[in-house]
Amino acid sequence: MHPGPVLSSTFDLGTGDTLPTDFYGRAGNPTWRALESAIGDLDGGECVLFASGMAAIGAVLRLAARDGALVLPADGYYLARSLAHAELAPLGVAVREVPTAGPWPSPSLEGAALVLVETPSNPGLDVADIAAAADGAHAVGALLAVDNTTATPLGQRPLDLGADLVVASDTKALAGHSDVVLGHVSTRDAGLAAALREARSRGGAVPGPMEAWLAHRGLGTLDLRLERQARNAAAVTDALLAHPAVADVRWPGHPGDPAHAVAARQMRRWNGVLRFTLPSERAVGEFVAASRLVGSATSFGGLRSTADRRARWGDAVAPGLLRFSAGCEDPDDLVADVCRALDTTWTTHESHLRGTPVL
Ligand SMILES: *Cc1c(COP(=O)(O)O)cnc(C)c1O
Repeated sequence: MHPGPVLSSTFDLGTGDTLPTDFYGRAGNPTWRALESAIGDLDGGECVLFASGMAAIGAVLRLAARDGALVLPADGYYLARSLAHAELAPLGVAVREVPTAGPWPSPSLEGAALVLVETPSNPGLDVADIAAAADGAHAVGALLAVDNTTATPLGQRPLDLGADLVVASDTKALAGHSDVVLGHVSTRDAGLAAALREARSRGGAVPGPMEAWLAHRGLGTLDLRLERQARNAAAVTDALLAHPAVADVRWPGHPGDPAHAVAARQMRRWNGVLRFTLPSERAVGEFVAASRLVGSATSFGGLRSTADRRARWGDAVAPGLLRFSAGCEDPDDLVADVCRALDTTWTTHESHLRGTPVL
């Protein structure tokens, strides 16, 4: 049975000198431990929960930064780069960027203490060869961390492929109901796990037990949700590839995707996150307005399909690029809705091009 959340900040210390397992809510509590044990089993390591994906990534970057250069994905989640450049580079840490697709190993790894890859990457949905990146990192004495957010622990086990650390935003598909901000790090190195727990306690920005409990409840249906989301993503990808308004479709699960071969080798299953490009920012607005099922929202992995125009956040991508998160809707409903919205967008776009008014 899944017990209810333990909300206590304060625990009975007893009468002796040895501290009980639970002594203060910032250091740990039974609700965190239950979720850490579940995610750790799935990742194949020891899990340390953090208050958000960025808190997890920040803890790993800060821990490794004292030992050498940081190598980050050039095209991954923007705040990891922003954290390194804004907070760590001014302290003298060398920060380098390598594209997700590699080549791995990369010449930029010399002198690195930590290599972070994100695969499949957000928002580009490119794929890094984890085993090759691990070989490259280990050859220069660096640790490899893999941001496993899009894949989830059911979709990919980076520790099995040679990574030293897994980081993830559990805000996305793992918790899965768009009501929790949470993250975690997993590792097989007990010393690293202990250092991360200490950093979490010292840093103090810890998750609430309620968040951990909701994410644990969500984890129970991750398998079911991923199955529907991947099925919807496959159907939407096919529809997008056939539509004249759409360019640049990427979903690693599609056999024609440039990253499919590497992804199929290292991933255990697909998920609902894909990307495509519409002709303009205006076309994106028209697409979202014309759709009844696709919400305009950032984040991904929730029950509802959503689309996010990434240029809005400063990602170096085309103005019409959308990261699309396929939800758990009925597949026929979703495809029909997306196609209808694309048709509307395309008709309007062509009329604009011809300079004729849209009736
Ligand atoms: C969302 C996201 C993050 C940040 O996670 P938060 O929980 O929002 O702090 C990190 N990496 C990737 C790949 C993400 O998609």
